[in-house]
Amino acid sequence: MKFALVTGGSRGIGKSICLKIAELGYHVIINYRSNDKEAEDTLNKIKTSGGNGELMKFDVSNPEEIKSSIDNWKEKNPDSIIEVLVNNAGIRKDALIVWMKDEDWKDVINTNLDSFYYITKHLVQDMIVNKYGRIVNVVSLSGIKGLPGQTNYSAAKGGVIAASKALAQEIAKKNVTVNCVAPGFIRTDMTKELEEKELKRLIPMSRFGNAEEVADVVTFLASPKASYVTGEVISINGGLYT
Ligand code: NAP
Repeated sequence: MKFALVTGGSRGIGKSICLKIAELGYHVIINYRSNDKEAEDTLNKIKTSGGNGELMKFDVSNPEEIKSSIDNWKEKNPDSIIEVLVNNAGIRKDALIVWMKDEDWKDVINTNLDSFYYITKHLVQDMIVNKYGRIVNVVSLSGIKGLPGQTNYSAAKGGVIAASKALAQEIAKKNVTVNCVAPGFIRTDMTKELEEKELKRLIPMSRFGNAEEVADVVTFLASPKASYVTGEVISINGGLYT
């Protein structure tokens, strides 16, 4: 059996990624933080389509929880390797910097950036030894161009982009690729309070994207077909200039 771990797989973009990666034949390990009902729904949908998976509940902003959850899984599956990792879980806590609370800076950095470090570090060694791996990081337009009101989020996503480019070069020889996808405005819970009517005027395609459109690109990068793509950032934003 081949294993893939998708963080933030209970809702939104992560849910779609789980479903599509299962179609590649992976047993999908669905991480989430708190929404048991939606995580179960992702797993049920995978099973209904003939795939398989399991839940792995942990907070990606907590290094101890990451370590214990992954170590526990490895103990139970001593001969198995997680060969695909999608770092998708993320949050935003927007405010102009003068109004930003220190904890909102830290939460966003820990959840979006530090999680990349702790989770990837824990899994990459096995990929290197196995001489095969796919790491895909879901970043954001905000991490490429910066968006006002999002200094914390832009810093975190920009940090993941830079780290991905560095790591891609470190491990390219071992046949482990590291890429990013950078969505613009995608219709999920994260954007539900945004004024789509107003914002879509800025988008050449005149609409928000949907989770499946992002998941398709992530799944390509997570597949064996993307064998010569590494260190890249692919924007999925309906033509917004980046
Ligand atoms: P979403 O609908 O809000 O879903 C977030 C997912 O992440 C949920 O599954 C949630 O789990 C999980 N999560 C959040 N914090 C977590 C934590 N500390 N530990 C474990 N899981 C956690 O978000 P989305 O729109 O699908 O966003 C997915 C990714 O795309 C994020 O990295 C986001 O920054 C990025 N992105 C989104 C957009 C957009 O327009 N939507 C644009 C650019 C980039 P629970 O269900 O348990 O809460």
